[in-house]
Amino acid sequence: MRPRQLLKTCLRFLVACTYAYGQAGANLEMTIHVYDYAGIDPGELAEAEAFAGRILHEAGLRTQWSNCRFSPAGTAMSKCAASTGGVTHLYVRLLPEEMARKLAAATTMLGMSVPTSNGTFPVDAYVFAERVGVFAKQDLCPVPPLLGAAITHEVGHLLLAGNAHTVTGIMSAHWGPKEKKDALMGVLTFSRRQSEQMRVDVSQRMTGSKQRAHIAYGERRIEPNRGGRRERADRIPPND
Ligand SMILES: [Zn+2]
Repeated sequence: MRPRQLLKTCLRFLVACTYAYGQAGANLEMTIHVYDYAGIDPGELAEAEAFAGRILHEAGLRTQWSNCRFSPAGTAMSKCAASTGGVTHLYVRLLPEEMARKLAAATTMLGMSVPTSNGTFPVDAYVFAERVGVFAKQDLCPVPPLLGAAITHEVGHLLLAGNAHTVTGIMSAHWGPKEKKDALMGVLTFSRRQSEQMRVDVSQRMTGSKQRAHIAYGERRIEPNRGGRRERADRIPPND
């Protein structure tokens, strides 16, 4: 497929996605603090957060978003919300390549979440925003839907205990053309089971519980699929 055709495809998916989101009741609420070290255009970031918010809303979760921008030197350029210590607040840091490579040298990694010990609720995640931008622009696709999907994937890891990776959907470990198209259409979402598990997790967080009652949390990551084709085995979650 030629680039021009891909661009048309992307635009068509974007139009389609405006009709793809349903209405879902959401009585459970999280606050997601986005620390932008990558210099994302504020309009694009707002769009990405809107994408992420809709996916989480479909899973039954309401989200409040708080943004904090940093200069390349790491100085806060806007007022940043102080950490409350509460586990209903999540912190997602958008990193440029220079910072991302210190955490994950492999440029195929698009993000990671930070595990916690003793079964406590994790709240910290990173999205390698510059890499997500490269991933999107490989097919001349807009960045915000894919950035929103990457943020949502990491939020999913924070709210889903254990190995949350699945063969399909937003928690797929390896992202290729299908995940890219689904993200643009707004149909790269959580399964019903994942949605239910996240609602239970948020409910526990909101009641003041400090620890999960169940399985240990592990570090997870997402990677773009290399090449246009892939075998089913490529999509099997790793045993990490
Ligand atoms: Zn993952």
